[in-house]
Amino acid sequence: MLNQKRNPSNSFSEVIKALQAEAKQSLEDGFIYFKEDLKTKTKGTVIVPTRKIKSGVAVVCPVVISKEGKDNEKALQAYKEEIKNCQKCSLGKTRTNFVFGEGNPGAKLVFIGEAPGADEDEQGRPFVGRSGQLLTKIIESIGFKREDVFIINILKCRPPNNRAPEPEEVEVCIPYLYKQLEIIKPKIICTLGNPSTQTLLNTKEGITKLRGRALDWNGIEVVATFHPSACLRNPAYKVDVWKDVKFLRKEYDRLCGSSN
Ligand code: SF4
Repeated sequence: MLNQKRNPSNSFSEVIKALQAEAKQSLEDGFIYFKEDLKTKTKGTVIVPTRKIKSGVAVVCPVVISKEGKDNEKALQAYKEEIKNCQKCSLGKTRTNFVFGEGNPGAKLVFIGEAPGADEDEQGRPFVGRSGQLLTKIIESIGFKREDVFIINILKCRPPNNRAPEPEEVEVCIPYLYKQLEIIKPKIICTLGNPSTQTLLNTKEGITKLRGRALDWNGIEVVATFHPSACLRNPAYKVDVWKDVKFLRKEYDRLCGSSN
């Protein structure tokens, strides 16, 4: 069910009309539709869908860090101390803060982005800017809290002016990600956007072909979707992201059981 107030002068009204048609089925399935962001983008159009819950989606449970998670926490902390002053590439000189990643050290689900942006560089935390706020809503839309999962970037330092990482920067930094994954041992990984998906899976295939289906990285299932920043640039991507994360939750439940 969809309730909306429409501002007739809204310049986004046509986009919203198309989006609503495309999203109808998803909304009926229970999409919370990241509504705060949509409100911001559409300057007055507010979409407040009813949050129907089906198939275990959107069941929010308190975060419990298991004994294994506590061991992982110590190992991650020790690893962070070991690498936090890294100067293996030139980004070590231009960064404000090293961004290790954060979340539940015993997480069964890990999100992987490309590299820190300006807000992340400033705060030393992953996905805290506008994209990060949207990622938090996406995570919540499938019944997790941000603290339930672990969020990492492939690069730990911000490329100046948000330029794309150089291949040699990725080459020297990616072993840190591998080690983090070795410690956390997730059951499922969600890659965000083309660069992180292609880098992790070592493929040139594009995100539009790879997204929303079960992929594999060293025996760990991977589900790729668009980066939240793509949704901010073009809200129509949210429909696809919703389909992808709904599949992600289904696969999580299949691999881990339905509890968080
Ligand atoms: S980007 Fe990675 S390899 Fe380069 S300085 Fe930062 S932590 Fe080290």
